[in-house]
Amino acid sequence: MPYEETERLTHIVVVGGGLAGSEASWQLAKRGFSVYLYEMRPFVETPAHSTAQLAEVVCSNSFGGDGEGSAAGILKAELALGGSLILECALISRVPAGGALAVDRDKFSELVSAHIESNSRIRVVREEAMDIPNAPCVIATGPLSSTAMTKALSSRVGDGYLSFFDAVAPIVTRESVNMDKAYIAGRYGRGNDYINCPLDKEEYLAFYEFLTQAERVVPHSFERGMRFEKNSYFEGCMPIEEMASRGVDTLRFGPMKPVGLPDPRTGREPYAAVQLRMDNREGTLLNLVGFQTGLRWGEQERLLKIIPALENADIARFGVMHRNIYVDAPKALDEHLRLKSVLRASGESVFLAGQITGVEGYMESTAMGLVAGLNAACLLRGARLPVWPPESAIGSLLRYLGDDTCGKSFQPMNANLGIFPPLGQKIKDKKLKAKAFYDRSMSVSKAFWSEYD
Ligand SMILES: Cc1cc2nc3c(=O)[nH]c(=O)nc-3n(C[C@H](O)[C@H](O)[C@H](O)COP(=O)(O)OP(=O)(O)OC[C@H]3O[C@@H](n4cnc5c(N)ncnc54)[C@H](O)[C@@H]3O)c2cc1C
Repeated sequence: MPYEETERLTHIVVVGGGLAGSEASWQLAKRGFSVYLYEMRPFVETPAHSTAQLAEVVCSNSFGGDGEGSAAGILKAELALGGSLILECALISRVPAGGALAVDRDKFSELVSAHIESNSRIRVVREEAMDIPNAPCVIATGPLSSTAMTKALSSRVGDGYLSFFDAVAPIVTRESVNMDKAYIAGRYGRGNDYINCPLDKEEYLAFYEFLTQAERVVPHSFERGMRFEKNSYFEGCMPIEEMASRGVDTLRFGPMKPVGLPDPRTGREPYAAVQLRMDNREGTLLNLVGFQTGLRWGEQERLLKIIPALENADIARFGVMHRNIYVDAPKALDEHLRLKSVLRASGESVFLAGQITGVEGYMESTAMGLVAGLNAACLLRGARLPVWPPESAIGSLLRYLGDDTCGKSFQPMNANLGIFPPLGQKIKDKKLKAKAFYDRSMSVSKAFWSEYD
């Protein structure tokens, strides 16, 4: 790596030219630092990328909701305040998509590449980085990090703290669960850690019927061979639709098992039950236990409506099925996205950025690129590292990455109103509520950026 002791204060290496690495490089360059941006494509390929462009969008071309009515919109407004290159290019290459920001994917990544490659402070090095530099750097190698980088990360954070999943379950907000149709209980009377959503036989059969017909996301070819073929799943992360296809009762003997969960209102076990478990410190988010799924997002919404207690559930994070390498953030990272183990061992700052930090989604990964870029710039300048306002979407994501209080295994998260600190007042109307979150975020974020621009 082109790193000399004498260059420490003006040069920095960023590894991975995806959404996060491109954003981090841009943030560093605009603050006057020279960047060596390592991108291994096209010489080394990933299973999902298909071009040599920087910031290639590998799947859906949607960057999620825009405007004041959603957490995704708030995040975009914050990225705009931070002068995000990725957001700017997305807005220029946008295609009509209702309330969402969707892009012409080729135009988008060509634009990002052109901005990065023509920036005199950024040198794009088309090589696979085989290790983590022994100097301040940003690692943004994404959910499909190369084998060498995965090994390098694993040796720094320890095997237990580098995770891998193929599938995650949806998460709903606590306040949208109809508690008149649910009850709190642990199996066999052990504890009170679960909210149970009962189904009678008729409801269960309707649920089963829908699930076996519902549309699934079409997997990438590399995923097809890996785990979408029959019997090719790890049992621990088999999607519910696959379980259902094995027989009408498979789910009732699996994640929807009602045994040991009598409904206190009837004294009897229901025909089936969906269990919800706290997913954040405040208990505002609940994970559907064992419900990993690759159904299309609209189908997930329709499916949950069949469960009486979840008929009006707000899905904070949808279930997804794709390969994802990420660190167990609360254990591996400090509040500035630095690897704690490296900081302890050598005092060096290795910032992670993007999806590998434990966020999920294009804009969230971009945001973690922006954070790492600004943090690294402050470090190189010898300035205090920024503390993000907790009321912002970015601050809330960072807070989630540091939350190790639930005793759960850490799973990636996207921007949603459930991870924001609650508002001082209760607002019923969804639009007004989102607007209140938006206004609060804008006020603190503007103050934040006035310090760091
Ligand atoms: C199959 C799949 C489908 C997805 N679908 C969606 C979706 O529909 N919507 C959504 O919001 N999110 C989706 N995601 C998540 C999405 O990948 C991330 O949100 C986003 O791309 C992550 O940005 P990133 O910059 O962290 O990683 P990436 O954009 O993946 O960038 C990482 C870059 O690092 C490079 N790299 C890796 N290792 C090395 C190395 N050792 N040296 C040099 N370069 C290296 C890679 O080539 C790549 O360019 C999907 C992910 C996958 C894997």
